[in-house]
Amino acid sequence: MLQVQGLTRRFGEKTAVDAVSFDVPSGKMTGFVGANGAGKTTTMRMIMGVLTAQSGEVLLDGRPVTAGDRSSFGYMPEERGLYPKQPILDQLVYLGQLHRMTQGDARSRAQELLERFQLGDRGKDKLESLSLGNQQRVQIAASLLHRPSVLILDEPFSGLDPVAVDSMVDLLREHTEQGVPILFSSHQLDLVDRLCDNLVVLQKGRLVTSGTGDELRAAAPRRHRITVSPDAGWVREEPGVTVIDVAGQDAVVELADDDAAQRLLTNALARGPVHEFSRIRPSLSEIYRGVSQ
Ligand code: ATP
Repeated sequence: MLQVQGLTRRFGEKTAVDAVSFDVPSGKMTGFVGANGAGKTTTMRMIMGVLTAQSGEVLLDGRPVTAGDRSSFGYMPEERGLYPKQPILDQLVYLGQLHRMTQGDARSRAQELLERFQLGDRGKDKLESLSLGNQQRVQIAASLLHRPSVLILDEPFSGLDPVAVDSMVDLLREHTEQGVPILFSSHQLDLVDRLCDNLVVLQKGRLVTSGTGDELRAAAPRRHRITVSPDAGWVREEPGVTVIDVAGQDAVVELADDDAAQRLLTNALARGPVHEFSRIRPSLSEIYRGVSQ
């Protein structure tokens, strides 16, 4: 498991990341979300050691992460680092060798990854001759090349078409199945919902919430949907009930506690047929929206 503990980074007067702590569990995909400028990239740079933290530390399996550990991490930085004028395969092989792979292993792994991204026949092409989405696929291949022990990916899905997203998701799942902790930032909340076991939310440099989907759902407001005949308007008057939305027979409400839920149901049954009364299980993106208001 990777653990971030109290990481802080200031730029002049501005505190970009303020005592941020969270876990990235092994074998799990952790989504890192927050508005532009929230501090995600700065945090990832500190995890990778490309930016020094003014305080706090990063732990791997309970002990401070070393340069040696970091050399086995896979990192996809925000400013993509490959050379536009170099042939793709040569660059990947070179990067693999920097990670102490043999030339032969690096070449076969690079070719395998390019094929996974439908770029198997483009290895001799210069990076700049590829579309932006395909350049992005090569960047992803670069971060996965050396079979990393930890993956830190800054906006890995931006600019990818749906087929490339699916290939990327398959590849990442293969890594989590082998126990690799993955932290990825994204503004695409549908992908966060689809992929994440864990969520970390930053706002203006501070941690707003973090945890597994189940932990975050347990802490989220308890919302219920109720559908009654002939009309649900009366729920507005119920004690312990905050109405989120009422339209005709349907209402979405937030309930103070279990008693309020039982009272609401009893009163609804006394008024007529109840067609639905169910707890709404919030998605991770709804939880994010809820805590970011
Ligand atoms: P985005 O979603 O837009 O990529 P982010 O959450 O990754 O945003 P950061 O890039 O970490 O946010 O930026 C956090 C804050 O720190 C911003 O206000 C940014 O302007 C500031 N910042 C980041 N790097 C530097 C730097 N090298 N010098 C000065 N300020 C910086």
